[in-house]
Amino acid sequence: MSAEPIIAALVVFQLFLGTAAGPAAKLPEMAVARTAVQSEIKTDKQIRFGFADRAEAAAFIEQNDAYYNSMNQINIDWRMGKTDATLAQLRKYAKEQVLDFTDEEKTFYQSRLEVLQKRLFDLGYEYELDVPVVFVKCTNKDELDSAAYTHANYVFLGRDIYRYYKQEIIDEAYVDEVLAHEVFHVLTRNDPDFRARMYKAIGFEIDEEIPFGEDVKKVIASNPDVTKYDCSAYFTINGKKKKGTIVSYFAAPWTKDANPFDYMLPGVVFYDEPNKIYTVDEISDFWDVVGRNTDYVIAAEECMADNFAFAVTYGMDVDYKDPEIPKYILEHIKE
Ligand SMILES: [Zn+2]
Repeated sequence: MSAEPIIAALVVFQLFLGTAAGPAAKLPEMAVARTAVQSEIKTDKQIRFGFADRAEAAAFIEQNDAYYNSMNQINIDWRMGKTDATLAQLRKYAKEQVLDFTDEEKTFYQSRLEVLQKRLFDLGYEYELDVPVVFVKCTNKDELDSAAYTHANYVFLGRDIYRYYKQEIIDEAYVDEVLAHEVFHVLTRNDPDFRARMYKAIGFEIDEEIPFGEDVKKVIASNPDVTKYDCSAYFTINGKKKKGTIVSYFAAPWTKDANPFDYMLPGVVFYDEPNKIYTVDEISDFWDVVGRNTDYVIAAEECMADNFAFAVTYGMDVDYKDPEIPKYILEHIKE
């Protein structure tokens, strides 16, 4: 995710790579005019982008069983804004939230994506996917009003991003950050080597999937950007260093008029205690491990998506609290 309502913070959710006969079979062609950078594509290793209309996006949601079927009740309730909501209601609601981009929006995003495309090309990133990264416009009401999120090779962009850009509430660099953050999720999902290289920037290794216990499963927060809990780092708890993974969880059931992001908290689950979530405050070195460039650390994936977005958008020309992280990213984008 690229976060809660854009003004409050940027979070992004992410979806899943579809199953064999999944989205790849239905992917739209590049729907955009080939201008400037597009026409200068030098190799098939260069990342490609496209736009989907609402019919394509709704068809994708329709077949995205992997994401919805893994969702617990607390996630359904927070997303639907009531207790005892059903999965069928949520999926219907999700399909109602997708929209069509205007031509003006497409032209704008196209120009910003060409910049991102060129930056990644210049940094030596080689794109392995045989389909484009496809953008969908939506309200994001079905995903807690987050700014944006991803599934498979789709990026769901909240309609407020362009609206706020036009109103000068956010600037072009901020839009670039959001786009780079979301594209990072699609790249890590589809390019395991890239994911492994990037996670090393904060000391994370790709590991076995952690077998959560029932208490954890009941409260863990679904994030479409985090497909698997299969990465680990060492954190210190009660004076001992142990292997764990970062999760986010709902600290309370759905509550009327509450902001879900006030209740969706990061935590750590240790491999030797898979049925217990420790709060960030209980971990003495949490911020030493993940760094202090972003506080959006509801998963290793989200921490890295933000750091990647900063590194790609600003390079080393800004004051980072932990500059070694973007430096590492920029040096390891190329295989
Ligand atoms: Zn994200």
